[in-house]
Amino acid sequence: MTAQITVLAGDYIGPEIMAAGLKVLAAVSEGQNFDYQLHEMPFGGAGIDQAGDPLPAEALQTAQKSDAILLAAIGGPKWDGAPKTPEQGLLAIRKALNLFANIRPTEISPAMQKYSPIKNTEPVDFVIVRELTSGIYFGQPRETTSEYALDTMRYTNQEIERITRVAFDMAMKRRKHVTLVDKANVLDTSKLWRKIVAQIATEYPAVTYDTSYVDAASMKIIASPSQFDVILTENLFGDILSDEAAQITGSLGTIPSMSRGSNGPSLYEPIHGSAPDIAGQGIANPISMVKSVAMMLTHSFDRADLAKQISDAVDATVESGVVTPDLGGNATTDEMTSAIINHIKESR
Ligand code: ATP
Ligand code: MG
Repeated sequence: MTAQITVLAGDYIGPEIMAAGLKVLAAVSEGQNFDYQLHEMPFGGAGIDQAGDPLPAEALQTAQKSDAILLAAIGGPKWDGAPKTPEQGLLAIRKALNLFANIRPTEISPAMQKYSPIKNTEPVDFVIVRELTSGIYFGQPRETTSEYALDTMRYTNQEIERITRVAFDMAMKRRKHVTLVDKANVLDTSKLWRKIVAQIATEYPAVTYDTSYVDAASMKIIASPSQFDVILTENLFGDILSDEAAQITGSLGTIPSMSRGSNGPSLYEPIHGSAPDIAGQGIANPISMVKSVAMMLTHSFDRADLAKQISDAVDATVESGVVTPDLGGNATTDEMTSAIINHIKESR
């Protein structure tokens, strides 16, 4: 079967790093019995410019029919104050595909160690599984009066169950350890999370399950990050912890992410924005996009073998010093991408 992949290159450095990601995909799949077809669609600012909409109908239909979606980055000053914004496209596609789980890896490989502010001898390799479509960002009622403002944190059993299964399924493919991060000493929603997650944990006897209060967890991410494998958490805590975790890896330009629903295609994208300040110079770090491709191969196409070839080649490239300016080097995006591809070829 041919894998159908929707490609949303987006804006500013988006097309630059997408080109890099697709070159690496072509190189790693060559002769490996992985056939795919790309469907490039306008999206974000490019969607507004080309089709009058940040998520053109054709782009959404194509995405819905595909097996996975690669997105680079959207937005930027060109569309500031416009009636339609590129970011609306992102919200719309997440909603249309019901992408309720956001997954962000935090990895400090030996090659990346020198860029990390954490001087930890143990390898760091964990993922945060964040609930993305409920909690206090969406809960009703919401209200602002002259005397007070009100937000509501609300979770249903079903919303907790489905994200919990994502986390435990992910743990089964990793080191089989899930940590629920909450504030169960204070919040009723957290107490409900504890109850439901504990029930589901009994279905996964191979997985070690523990819990941590969010205040303690935010310390541990700095003090002893190697203890984590899968962190499961609700929307607000996940938002904060995933940015904290990103900082310990050293560069924004190296971190991929995945968003998924219950069924249908998952979406893979770098965690950073479209970096208008460096667009057009050919110096964007391609690692975040290249690793998004690797995540896609593992989670949408069950090709962890190809993903490993990519991450080994990225590490070898970083170790060789062929890196873009954000990592202190003077390589261009193209030079770094070629180095990654050469390492993939050499390893065969
Ligand atoms: P957004 O609101 O879309 O998240 P932002 O204002 O947070 O955008 P980013 O686009 O994420 O900004 O960029 C933040 C900084 O990191 C910028 O200085 C940018 O140049 C740099 N940066 C982001 N991605 C990369 C990359 N792939 N390579 C090099 N530098 C990057
Ligand atoms: Mg940002």
